[in-house]
This record gives sequence, structure tokens and C-alpha cells, in this order.
Amino acid sequence: MVIILRPEDDATEILERINEFLTERGMKISEKKTKITAATDGFDFLGWHFKVLKDGRFKSYPPVDNFKKFRQKVKNIVNCSNYGSKAKAEKLAPIVRGWRNYHKFCDMSSAKFSLWHINHRTWKVFNKETKNTRKSTTQLIKKAFPSVPYSENKFVNVKGDKSPYDNDITYWSERNSKLYDNETSKALKRQNHSCSHCGLKFTSEERVHLHHIDGNHNNWKTKNLVTVHESCHDYIHMSKEVIF
Ligand SMILES: [Zn+2]
Ligand SMILES: [Zn+2]
Repeated sequence: MVIILRPEDDATEILERINEFLTERGMKISEKKTKITAATDGFDFLGWHFKVLKDGRFKSYPPVDNFKKFRQKVKNIVNCSNYGSKAKAEKLAPIVRGWRNYHKFCDMSSAKFSLWHINHRTWKVFNKETKNTRKSTTQLIKKAFPSVPYSENKFVNVKGDKSPYDNDITYWSERNSKLYDNETSKALKRQNHSCSHCGLKFTSEERVHLHHIDGNHNNWKTKNLVTVHESCHDYIHMSKEVIF
């Protein structure tokens, strides 16, 4: 159990009250398993990183490891030598849009999430191609990194046990798993709607592929089947240098 304290909370008093509540129900707090953290220090919850401001409002950000995974995905495509800048821009666009949409309620104003560095590096790679001019490179970059405005409503109040995201993003794929065949939608559920390759959640931007781990498309055993993003699927097969 993680207990998150608001600035006005007193840790000892809260613990006492929780203990009281649990004792009445014949339960006990496990001190080993309980972590008390001040909300103003920031904490990860429901797949986002939260911070509580002094006035009690919440602000959320993409968690560090989520951002790293996203960056890695983009890098894999940018550095790939199998296709040119035009194809890369087409592959990058849904990934970038998906990631930005997924975090649209976050505060993305920090320089870290502006993707400036990735942008710049991609520009250089694209511009090396002899058929590209500075102008055409810039156009491709615009296509590859579509901007998604983040919500004006950067501050959300968490009420009870309801996630502020319940109505919007969570489990997009649960609703959409009907669009996929039986084995794909079963694998989606098994994986809790995250990609088995990059670990990021599926979004409506990128298609879900069913991948046969051993490369044998006649092997339909459950443990041989995983769902992955379209781009991750590309990458898996590219790095194996086998085309199925
Ligand atoms: Zn993936
Ligand atoms: Zn595959």
C-alpha cells in the first residue's frame, strides 16, 4: 500500500486513522509493505507521474521510463537503414501522435517533452539524403512530428478512487479489441493492452499486430502469440533479418 500525503496531512495521524479503520474490520496495516510519501515529492500512479502543488492541485507528467521507451522507438525508426526519410516520416507520425494524445492531460510545457532533441537529430538524418533539400527536410519533420495540443485543463482533481483519465484514455484497446481477430484480442487482454516489445500502451493511432515468437506462423499456441505495435513488429523482424 502506498499512502500519499497532501501538504496539510500529518503522517502519524493518518496512519492512526487507517489503523483504526482496518482494526474495526479485523485487518492490520503491514508496516513493511506500506510506503508513505509526500505528494509534493511526486509519485507514479495509474501510469502517470503526479505532483501535487502547494495549493492541492494535481499536475501530471509522462513517467520517465515511458518517455525513454517512446524515445527509443523513435530512434529505432530514425536510425533504420532499410527505408528512406519519406517512409520514416510516415512511420513516425502515428507513433508521435499516439504518444502525445495519450499524455494530452499532462503538462507538456517542460522542455523535456518538447521533443526538440529528437526533432533536431531526425532533421540531420533526413537532410543527409541527397534528394532532400533543407525545405523538403523541414516538411518531412513537420509530418513526422505532428503537434497535438495538450489540454488547457492541466489541473485535475482526483475524486475518490476514480482516475481522472477513466473516461478518456484508459483501455482504449478494450473497446477496440473487437476490431481484431480472436487471438489478437485475447493476447491484448493477456498483456493488459500493452505492447510486449516496447511496453507502451496501445493507442488508437497505431495498429496492433499479432506476432509469432518462434517465427512459425502455424504455431498458434498461446505462449507463442504476443501483440505488438505495427512499428515494433517491423523492428522485431528487421533485427532478426528475417521477413515473414
Ligand atoms: Zn510497441
Ligand atoms: Zn511477427
